[in-house]
Amino acid sequence: MLDADTQISAASYEIARLAAGGALAGVDAIMNDKADNVFCAVRPPGHHALAEKAMGFCLFNNAAVAARYIQQKYSLNKVLIIDWDVHHGNGTYEIFIDDPSVFYFSVHQFPHYPNSGTEDETGIGEGLGYSLHVTFSGGQGDREYIAAFKEKLLPKAREFAPDFIIISAGFDAHKDDSLSGMQLSAEGFGELTHIISQLADETCNGRIVSVLEGGYNLTALAESVFLHIQELKS
Ligand SMILES: [Zn+2]
Repeated sequence: MLDADTQISAASYEIARLAAGGALAGVDAIMNDKADNVFCAVRPPGHHALAEKAMGFCLFNNAAVAARYIQQKYSLNKVLIIDWDVHHGNGTYEIFIDDPSVFYFSVHQFPHYPNSGTEDETGIGEGLGYSLHVTFSGGQGDREYIAAFKEKLLPKAREFAPDFIIISAGFDAHKDDSLSGMQLSAEGFGELTHIISQLADETCNGRIVSVLEGGYNLTALAESVFLHIQELKS
């Protein structure tokens, strides 16, 4: 046990490297014109992992590693990470807290694990204003999420004008998921994907790598991922 939630086995290191590497392979596929966008069906998830510490089921921060890879290998400057997992991606937020080249948007339940990510946390130093948190107390669903994306994310994202978008795609805000008190439907995840796809078409040639984070009701996860991928493909 690395912490109360994070169990590892002898195989975990190799599997976690494959998960992070999956996101990098997704970036390569897009940059080499083999795909318009990519969904990475990987586990373990990543968004709680700090640069030097695993936590909350997460070993390596797959989305953060992919963001740095985009910048270093392909010399693209600005990466937008959109995290709709029901939990705050404290690892991603901390890694880029003072970095204006990575904009981090998270919508999550609060208070809830890991008890970070209040709306007045917006980065520090040069990164001040390059993180945006939207918190929900529980009970919110498609209507509230869509409004948050349109009214809060989109104006900031258009101003930031990303070269690449990464989605930290957790599906644990689904109404049937026991790890949250949210009410999103599978169709709602499809609608959020549609909003992001349009944003990507406007700003960054449609470049999106979506990386699986949470999602613990397997039926809800399958239905939500299916509609997510349908929207990415359309
Ligand atoms: Zn989660």
